[in-house]
Amino acid sequence: MSVEVKKKPWFAQLQWQILMAMGLALPVGVLGGPDAAEAVGWLGDLFLRLLKMVVVPLIFFSIVAGVTGVGSLKRVGRLGGKTLVYYILTSTLAILTGLLLANAVHPGDEGLFERLRTADVQNQGTQTQKTEQAEPADLMLEKDLKVSDLLFRMVPENPIEDMVYSEDDPKRGPNVLGVIFFALLFGACILALKQESKERLSSVFETLFGVMMIMTDWIIRTAPIGVFALLVRVVGTTGLGAFATLGVYMLTVLGALALHAFVTLPLICLFVARRNPWPYVRALGPALATAFSTASSNAALPVTLDSVERAGISNRVTSFVLPLGATINMDGTALYECVAVLFLAQCYGVDLSLGQQMVVVMTALLASVGAAGIPHAGLVMMSIVLTAVGLPLEGMGVILAVDRILDMCRTTTNVWSDAIGAAVVARLEESGGGGTA
Ligand code: ASP
Repeated sequence: MSVEVKKKPWFAQLQWQILMAMGLALPVGVLGGPDAAEAVGWLGDLFLRLLKMVVVPLIFFSIVAGVTGVGSLKRVGRLGGKTLVYYILTSTLAILTGLLLANAVHPGDEGLFERLRTADVQNQGTQTQKTEQAEPADLMLEKDLKVSDLLFRMVPENPIEDMVYSEDDPKRGPNVLGVIFFALLFGACILALKQESKERLSSVFETLFGVMMIMTDWIIRTAPIGVFALLVRVVGTTGLGAFATLGVYMLTVLGALALHAFVTLPLICLFVARRNPWPYVRALGPALATAFSTASSNAALPVTLDSVERAGISNRVTSFVLPLGATINMDGTALYECVAVLFLAQCYGVDLSLGQQMVVVMTALLASVGAAGIPHAGLVMMSIVLTAVGLPLEGMGVILAVDRILDMCRTTTNVWSDAIGAAVVARLEESGGGGTA
């Protein structure tokens, strides 16, 4: 475990380099437009490929080592319990923040669909050529996803298949939920072995996890270049027109995300984790920047693990809490589901009753658990919430235009919440006699 004591000058530190790269990407993207996006975009893809390369082995070894490192099944249950309580509580708080703001601001506008339809026809060419990793339009195939599908997704028929990128649809990525479920069971079974075998296998998996962390650390050093290229592409290719039409909706989502990320979560960090949020957020700079630029909790996971450990949280907690969090704890996504569905209801002129709003809260929570940690997954999962309150699914197409930028912000919130979750669980483990964290 390494604590944050760096002697390097500021400009040689990773978080500052990333910050400078982000600052530089804005003018380059605005001035260079699509040409700049095309010129540097491949560098961003290369960075993403490196992250994707490590993500599945990292999740698998991290969870197995995380579970075996806890030492006994009873303690795994306790750690898992605390982790889940944190996930559910913070996601619910996030949704309620979204609910309050969406009701107070009332961003929906009944004439909007008509106006967008006209604008859409005019913009068609420019809107469809966005260079993103996963085109939301493709992901829309999952429109009628049911709640029971989530459970099926969790229990893999073939765990090896879940670890690979599907040939039919390489954009969709591996089924991380299935990998996690299998890894949790695998780790638990190692703990159920006889003492000698249990110790031998535990140390093998700890070593393998160590190897993946070293590989990750090397990749992270290229983050300033990767983050720069990805941001230039977003800024260079996203038209500003859509932002104006959907401006109030975007501001409502961003305002609610800001409340959750800058007020609720830091308060939890301060009072529950007993940790000053400011140095913590600074230590997490590389992870948050990667989340922001990739819009993927999974892609950011290697960096998140590294940053949280650098901030002094034990590997025993991070290797268990963070991979789980990257997949099922998505505060930003949950909040976004809620605001977006309320916004669409308002656009359709539908007044959701209190009961229906509670249904939104419950299903938004479910949708955020089921959303994969990849770009636009939250938008796809929205069909669950819309269906639950009887709204048409076509509205999802309307908010698609501005989804990327909102996705970047909600993913950053997701990762920030995961990191605070690790701090909270570490703290509770310490005070509950669960060993040092
Ligand atoms: N992109 C988000 C994430 O990876 C999920 C979402 O679309 O809300 O955390």
